[in-house]
Amino acid sequence: MERSKVLISAEEIEKQHEYMRKVKDLLGSGERYALVRTYGCQQNEADSERLAGMLCEMGYTITEDEQLADLILVNTCAVREHAELKALSITGQFKHLKEKKKGLLIGICGCMVSQEHRKEDIKHKYPYVDFLFGTAMLYRMPEILYTKLKKDKRQFFLDDNSGNIAEGLPVYRMNSFKAWVSIMYGCNNFCSYCVVPYVRGRERSREVDAILKEVRELADAGYKEITLLGQNVNSYGKDLEEPISFAQLLARICQIEGDFTVRFMTSHPKDATKELIDVMADNKKIARAFHLPLQSGSNRVLARMNRKYTREKYLELVDYMRQKMPDIALTTDIIVAFPGESDEDFEDTLDMLKRVEYDNIYSFIYSKRKGTPAAEYPDQIDPAVASERFARMIACQQEISARKNKDYTGEILQVLVEGYSKTDDQKLTGRTEKNRLVHFEGPEELIGQYAAVRITRSETYALFGELAQ
Ligand code: SF4
Repeated sequence: MERSKVLISAEEIEKQHEYMRKVKDLLGSGERYALVRTYGCQQNEADSERLAGMLCEMGYTITEDEQLADLILVNTCAVREHAELKALSITGQFKHLKEKKKGLLIGICGCMVSQEHRKEDIKHKYPYVDFLFGTAMLYRMPEILYTKLKKDKRQFFLDDNSGNIAEGLPVYRMNSFKAWVSIMYGCNNFCSYCVVPYVRGRERSREVDAILKEVRELADAGYKEITLLGQNVNSYGKDLEEPISFAQLLARICQIEGDFTVRFMTSHPKDATKELIDVMADNKKIARAFHLPLQSGSNRVLARMNRKYTREKYLELVDYMRQKMPDIALTTDIIVAFPGESDEDFEDTLDMLKRVEYDNIYSFIYSKRKGTPAAEYPDQIDPAVASERFARMIACQQEISARKNKDYTGEILQVLVEGYSKTDDQKLTGRTEKNRLVHFEGPEELIGQYAAVRITRSETYALFGELAQ
């Protein structure tokens, strides 16, 4: 795709700023509140921060209180059916709010509504939704909102599917010490189960300078953790006029001054390179944590998933990583009960779990996605078999995670403190460089700071400790 067609022009972005000013004028003075509800991945969270940034520019104050909101925007996910149903159910509940509050505006956006059939559902079954737009239309939200307000007519804007990059939009960061930075959008891989390439378009990379500028600003503002985002960060830069590898981008980011840690996701094994691992090993700014989605341990299933790597190639990468960084934490994604997965295939996946000994896994039962090749495979797995395999997978990993967590007892770990624990408001909670969740007692002032915590006990998914003197 030509760069000139991918980058939204400065004139178009200025036009949207003009719409932001017009919406602000139209709404007049007085407090206005907007709630942005986000489902799905970190990319969606990053998108929501840009949507919230534009809403602030239009005079809204961001709130978490739906009773207070004058505008509610639901940013949806399409990766699993469960995520779609959740977003639809929450949108359904907003109908009652709208009945109580005259003038409440309800918008819906993101991956789910970038599918034609879902757009039609919303149009016909959710008449109280005022506006809808797909992922590539995000930057036009001010125009869409203005048109809705001015004409008092529902607005439905779907993507033209070409994909784009919009620079220069305001961002409202939801966290003051951890930040997302999208480095690219879209995906070219077409894994046979995945809807992402259909709803987010083809891969397109942001310019190196734009990324470096954003990271520099975050570092100057004191952000402690910066996560680089892309559906497959390892493809970064291939489409730029002056191609650059993801490893080279990372190396340049590490040259930026400041006390911050860099993370990245997601990394497709077929494109993960030794060069990338070398750059990680050479730069202390990059967290010693690698998320490398395996999806299945069976070569037969991997081929049907269109993943384009084998378990042998995957293990080779893991070996190289551990040779370079023996202490690296590894996590992965697994799809259980992909169509046609035999008992033997499933055993191959369990075998990979035992060989690699991941620190943690994110596993899900296969979810049929309309329009993807795997949805048409005739050999879908019986739900009872899928549940049984899922339970075995979790049990296998729990044993590994618990054992690995136990090894931390007695160690002093640096923890970036995120806030109070959700289950015990007497305790603070945070994460280590290797993404371990740690709970401990300490003063509120530590939130957003690093704390040294001595680990006194462990559970499968968390560590517990006390502040080290
Ligand atoms: S790499 Fe595969 S799983 Fe990941 S977004 Fe692209 S198509 Fe989906």
